[in-house]
Amino acid sequence: MTAKTPLPVVQVKNLHEARFECTYGRGCEGLCCRNGRPGLVESEIELLNENLHRILPLLRPEARRLVERRGYLTRRRRAGLPLLAVVGGWCVFFNQGCVLHKLGAAEGDKFRYKPYQCVVFPLLQDEDGTWYVRQWGYKNEPWDLFCLHPNNTTVSAAESLREEIEYIARLQADAADS
Ligand code: SF4
Repeated sequence: MTAKTPLPVVQVKNLHEARFECTYGRGCEGLCCRNGRPGLVESEIELLNENLHRILPLLRPEARRLVERRGYLTRRRRAGLPLLAVVGGWCVFFNQGCVLHKLGAAEGDKFRYKPYQCVVFPLLQDEDGTWYVRQWGYKNEPWDLFCLHPNNTTVSAAESLREEIEYIARLQADAADS
């Protein structure tokens, strides 16, 4: 039996001061999917294209029409990445929750089809690559989402973001192996 290589430690600058609790379904309708337009990398686009026939029937009718007509990406780019399209104010993949999350969860891995930028929210990297938790008033945070205000929960980000941090650590380990 081979010993498992420990995952790298992901340094998150303000992890121990930050507080975060996702309240989707408990007062929040999924506002990060309303305001967010994640950028997708090539491997994510390939995965979505391969599975689009399974994803399309799960979309809101207006989102499905848009994706069938013009695709799920816009011509806009951020940091060189094409952004997901929005219809009716919500991400095309939002339908009472993220359909990519639900599809993955039904197969035992909720992160499988979800864009990386959505999985790691509210973690972000600053200019020198250091991870931090997005919080009101921290590093010029532009979003005023309820969940990013540290006074709106007593839950420590170190506790609530465990899975997301482990996901980043797994990606870092894969990148180091390749
Ligand atoms: S891909 Fe899913 S999690 Fe990301 S913005 Fe769209 S609906 Fe939300």
